[in-house]
Amino acid sequence: MYEATKDSAEKTRGQQLKDDLFYRKKNVYEESNAEKIGDIYAYADGYMRYLDESKTEREAVKESIAMLEKAGYREYRFGDPLSVGDKIYYNNCNKSLIACFIGRADLHQSGIRIVAAHVDSPRIDLKQNPLYEEAGMGFFKTHYYGGLKKYQWTALPLALHGVVVRADGTEVSVRIGEDEKDPVFYINDLLPHLGADQGSKPLSSAIAGENLNILVGGLPFADEAVDEKIKLGVLHYLYEKYGITESDFVSAELCAVPAFRARDIGFDRAFIGAYGHDDRVCAYPALTALIDKKDEEQTVMVVLADKEETGSQGNTGMQSCILSDMIDEISRAFSRSPARVRNASLCLSADVSAAYDPNFAEVYERRNSAMISCGTTMSKYTGARGKSGTNDASAETVARIRQMLNARGVMWQTSELGKVDQGGGGTVAMFISRMNIKTVDLGVAVISMHAPYEVISKADLYTMKEAILAFYEER
Ligand code: MN
Ligand code: MN
Repeated sequence: MYEATKDSAEKTRGQQLKDDLFYRKKNVYEESNAEKIGDIYAYADGYMRYLDESKTEREAVKESIAMLEKAGYREYRFGDPLSVGDKIYYNNCNKSLIACFIGRADLHQSGIRIVAAHVDSPRIDLKQNPLYEEAGMGFFKTHYYGGLKKYQWTALPLALHGVVVRADGTEVSVRIGEDEKDPVFYINDLLPHLGADQGSKPLSSAIAGENLNILVGGLPFADEAVDEKIKLGVLHYLYEKYGITESDFVSAELCAVPAFRARDIGFDRAFIGAYGHDDRVCAYPALTALIDKKDEEQTVMVVLADKEETGSQGNTGMQSCILSDMIDEISRAFSRSPARVRNASLCLSADVSAAYDPNFAEVYERRNSAMISCGTTMSKYTGARGKSGTNDASAETVARIRQMLNARGVMWQTSELGKVDQGGGGTVAMFISRMNIKTVDLGVAVISMHAPYEVISKADLYTMKEAILAFYEER
């Protein structure tokens, strides 16, 4: 028999108490009207364009600078004068970027609102002497970059991106495999018919790192007098097209990335599939919120870092002095103590988390996992085992962010990566908090993280931007 549902005025005492006392995650789509869902989908379109243009850290920096310049940001060099209202960016070797808006608020009181995301993603780098031929095929030797599952990178169309600096110091940039008419590249895998031995190996060793060789050619150079004709044919092509010789690979950064474009996933288009959501899904909201913000009170900084996937070392990684230097410069420009500015600052370490996946439920602890489409996700701590390698934000810092988000009605959730002792991971949070900057992790939950094609929810992307805007504009 039909039973009318009770409206909220008719809740029992228990139902009302449950509403008031329980912590419950809510699906953003379920809580949004058609207009809001329209906004969520429209914002995703811009993000997908950014993804397609930004498959490497160099491309992300270039694309981000173009967006910033369009919004009135100008290039800054250390030592340049600064004044309130300035919109600047610092280009660190074309591989990492700091954008900054100088607000009215006293830096001793308000510090700097920092959002740090990274724009490098797992990929397949070429070795410095990569080219050889064998059995009618030309190959590039590779060295993979970041934590990837090697078996996922075979038998896929790959594009080649990067730069070559020639012997005379001139630079040529390479991007092949993104245009429909371009050729693509490929890492061979074994046919199942001969895969008996391979199939009995653990996934982690079924494909050896040294076997991730990229198929790059097969047309022999037409000259009976020479050997290694395929290799010569490839080098001849590269010389004709780019003016590079084999020794120029020594001073090159070339990498293979999936040749896929970002696409909607599902009949209802609720999700986005793409290469490199980790961590452009945080970089893009950080940038667009900076460009769109109306409030001019706070000094706001967006850091787009390189090298996160290999441990944040190197001059373009977050373990370098670059962020600290930038804070020093800004502080001195306004006769403020950099130490006190750092102490007053607040940072969102904007990086992805793992979305609970019912297909692999055994590795997640559901109550404390990020649920897809339930909003941007805050992780008080990351790390492994007994919270090793984590920032672990204080209750007070978490409370402050919580208040900011709730005041603006931003939908967010709390999460940690997975079950205790199942593994773990880290972010740049620990390298920023090391500078005496209060830092907490906030990001977007990802399905199939570090796979060549990752999945996120458009709803989570959108709430990430809302959250960052609330963070920039809080007084
Ligand atoms: Mn990441
Ligand atoms: Mn990652």
